[in-house]
Amino acid sequence: MPADSAPKYKKVLLKVSGEVLMGDQGYGIDMATVDTVAAAIARVVKGGTEVCLVIGGGNIFRGLSTAAADMERASADYMGMLATVMNALAMQNALEKIGVDTRVQSAIPMAAIAEPYIRRRAVRHMEKGRVVIFAAGTGNPYFTTDTAAALRAAEMGCDALLKGTSVDGVYSADPKKDKSATRYEHLTYQDVLSQNLKVMDAAAIALMRESKIPIVVFSIREEDSLRKVLKGKGTFTVISDLPAPTA
Ligand code: UDP
Repeated sequence: MPADSAPKYKKVLLKVSGEVLMGDQGYGIDMATVDTVAAAIARVVKGGTEVCLVIGGGNIFRGLSTAAADMERASADYMGMLATVMNALAMQNALEKIGVDTRVQSAIPMAAIAEPYIRRRAVRHMEKGRVVIFAAGTGNPYFTTDTAAALRAAEMGCDALLKGTSVDGVYSADPKKDKSATRYEHLTYQDVLSQNLKVMDAAAIALMRESKIPIVVFSIREEDSLRKVLKGKGTFTVISDLPAPTA
């Protein structure tokens, strides 16, 4: 893979969806999976990469789910944001257990369990090698944690937004349902928007395009994949406005 499409990332935001944290269970937090993801993060932090995290909440509650069908959208979304706080605390615990310093910052103030989100303080934590876990999404209903990830990646001045999923990149169709689906090596932001590819929501993609921050989609379930991705190795899809690799 040419160096220009796979730079070495030194300061990254890692988005981990709720779906990843539930492992093979149908719901909730699978602590063994949280430990595996934490170990992968610890490894790259110890290697000198500055890392911050946005954790989803879909493993516990989603505003647009059938469970919330009779609820006012904003209230359901606040429940979704609270779900991300639970996941953030689980991840904090898993990281601290293996010697990684962390801070949870919540977009919705909850003084007893997390710091409030303060951009400059978060930047300082990262400089000191602490992993900052951003909880409660953007703090606003009608948004997703993908948008929160894009927003925080831009605010922190990250080199890349890494989207850790259960699939190793972006495919032409759902690889779990369609055997002929092929993985893209590279896409532009416009490709994702115009083909309506289910990577991240349009607001997140547009913000990353404007901020010129590449999005790297990879499988965080595979051992060592995070470390490899930071070196531009392994299997993933890069979304950026750089020319597509010609190899
Ligand atoms: N949410 C929200 N505003 C935000 C982020 C999240 O209202 O800024 C709510 C929304 O209801 C969403 C839920 O929190 O469905 C969980 O987040 P998301 O679905 O993005 O989690 P993921 O799919 O990554 O697990």
